[in-house]
Amino acid sequence: VTPSHCAIERTLGMIKPDCVRNKHVDEIRKIILAQGFSFVKEKDTKLDVASAKSFYQEHNGKEFFPSLIEFMTSGPVHPMVLEGEGAIKKWRALMGPTDSNKARITAPDSIRAAFGTDNQMNCVHGSDAPESAAREISFFFGDDKQGSWSYLSI
Ligand code: ADP
Ligand code: MG
Repeated sequence: VTPSHCAIERTLGMIKPDCVRNKHVDEIRKIILAQGFSFVKEKDTKLDVASAKSFYQEHNGKEFFPSLIEFMTSGPVHPMVLEGEGAIKKWRALMGPTDSNKARITAPDSIRAAFGTDNQMNCVHGSDAPESAAREISFFFGDDKQGSWSYLSI
């Protein structure tokens, strides 16, 4: 890695129930690949209420928390470990801002602008910092002991 490059990072991306329901998973995976991310891990799963509350623990007590939990448990999700240079910020930028309607104005090329509905049903999740990325990756996939995770062939 040369000084002019960002560090190689891993982040937790997740396609949320609205986007899985609308069958946008393949299209979003293609956008992610076209931006140069590697898929280290991914799976189809479903969050129960206890795990959704744990995943979004930082928002517990906020006004939107109950409906966020209801939304996130309303159907299957597709979590992904994405890797690349500066992956955490790069994935957040590709997602766009939280509110899909705002995204359509300020980040029209973003995933939330293209596939999100509103402030809640916004299609994708992304870790916001190295600490949350580590916690969220291990939440869905456990720990990468001795760096043994193999890359998916794409
Ligand atoms: P982000 O997903 O962009 O990191 P937050 O961490 O602030 O956004 O919020 C987590 C999720 O909670 C959002 O992606 C969205 O689904 C939901 N959410 C956030 N703010 C609101 C809100 N004001 N009303 C309804 N849902 C919200
Ligand atoms: Mg967040």
